[in-house]
Amino acid sequence: MSALHDNIANLAPHLTRIGETGILNHINGQAVPAASGAWFDTTSPVDDSMIARVARSDAQDIDAAAQAAKAAFPAWRDMPAADRKRILHAIADGIEARAGEIALCECWDTGQALRFMSKAALRGAANFRFFADRAPAARDGQALPSPTLMNITTRVPIGPVGVITPWNTPFMLSTWKIAPALAAGCTVVHKPAELSPWTARILIEIAEEAGLPPGVWNLVNGMGEDAGRVLTEHPDIKAIAFVGESKTGSAIMAQGAPTLKRVHFELGGKNPVVVFEDADLDNALDAAIFMIYSLNGERCTSSSRLLVQDTIADDFEANLAARAKAIKVGHPLDPATEVGPLIHRGHRAKVMASFDTAKAEGATIAAGGTRVGDTGQFVAPTLFTNATNDMKIAQEEIFGPVLTSIRFQTEEEALHIANDTAYGLTGYVWTADVTRAMRFTDGLEAGMIWVNSANFRHLPTPFGGMKASGIGRDGGDWSFEFYMEQKHIGIATGDPKIPRLGT
Ligand code: NAD
Repeated sequence: MSALHDNIANLAPHLTRIGETGILNHINGQAVPAASGAWFDTTSPVDDSMIARVARSDAQDIDAAAQAAKAAFPAWRDMPAADRKRILHAIADGIEARAGEIALCECWDTGQALRFMSKAALRGAANFRFFADRAPAARDGQALPSPTLMNITTRVPIGPVGVITPWNTPFMLSTWKIAPALAAGCTVVHKPAELSPWTARILIEIAEEAGLPPGVWNLVNGMGEDAGRVLTEHPDIKAIAFVGESKTGSAIMAQGAPTLKRVHFELGGKNPVVVFEDADLDNALDAAIFMIYSLNGERCTSSSRLLVQDTIADDFEANLAARAKAIKVGHPLDPATEVGPLIHRGHRAKVMASFDTAKAEGATIAAGGTRVGDTGQFVAPTLFTNATNDMKIAQEEIFGPVLTSIRFQTEEEALHIANDTAYGLTGYVWTADVTRAMRFTDGLEAGMIWVNSANFRHLPTPFGGMKASGIGRDGGDWSFEFYMEQKHIGIATGDPKIPRLGT
């Protein structure tokens, strides 16, 4: 038996189980269908086969979840932080124990390759551990004495929060938002993406088995335009942590305006990888390839624009095209697979439409540009060359394994092109000149920049984007800033010297 067949066999009992129960909501500690009894289907992008029916929630379900989160909030907020820490570590233990199952289910639901998803499950556990350890200090503040006052600051959790997540690496991203919310003392209503609901169901089962009290974390499945919208409008939900497309972020801001919702947005990107002629070109090539073709290119931080200095561009692009053609496209449960199928038929159509756009705009398709196979949502890793930055293929987020290469002559030109985009999430700079690296990163409009490196996440550092790529930062203490309210208390240290009126 090959490893692929073993993995398919190992997935089978999980598929049977979820097929029998359907993917239920989880409200106040109970697994429940939608109150209306409505369902929708979720399918696998490998072969379009049905995985399970999913609770299709509406305002009644969101309201029930928000009420549960509201009722559970005071006890969770007031629980000693050491106890919250213990529960969050127990959730991490549960994730690690079921990491194999989570990886298989996530691959089948999303099309992501197993070689990346097994690590994503463990990163989810690491997110819980990181914020568990920080829970005891979350409320800490400062002492800022003035001549007449001892001024102190403290933080309190904001209340029940809504977490809305996308379909790319849904398990890891859900932990990334939910772990700090719980560590801060907030309660949660989570609405996962309708295209990838499976592992959110596993995650909440793990959480409650780990001892999380009922109502602290509630799961509501459904469509963005109804369940998602109602969550963002609900008066008992104090903040919305959202990961998804920039245009959805705009909609959520408008929907949340009447209730003055606090929002945290992690949105799209069209991130540049800038390669200067003096760089370590072997490493730069590996990184450029990894950062666009790993995770099927369905990655907000992917380096989807290659800016390459014209003196080295011919060789660099030729090497890149050869490597892109050699990438193994295949079944996501095959350990050899590097690129799996895209999330959904509609998304494949969108990605493939960019091939026509590239041709119409006069770019060259140097690799890929085709569908792979007749079933499933597979496309070939693609490279566009002879592109300019004003083309749609250089400006619009394609969110697939598609790289647009643009040549530059000078550092000034490279910086201008890099910043000439609506987005500002990440940037990658390759140069041996440290002074240039300092100068270039200073001018680059991006929330996260790596120099001579791919994107290696370090949890204490801030994660987030500028411009249309987002509002706010995650990671370290930045997450707590979002999920908590800052308070100032001034205590008189002597005669308060209050001006007397009416004497
Ligand atoms: P999407 O915006 O279509 O959907 C994301 C979530 O929002 C889903 O759960 C969806 O149901 C919900 N939603 C849709 N309309 C809504 C509405 N009106 N009100 C409330 N909720 C609504 O995004 P997607 O296609 O699932 O994900 C891909 C996008 O996510 C890409 O643009 C990608 O760059 C971005 N992303 C960003 C980051 C980051 O950290 N910056 C990380 C991952 C993904």
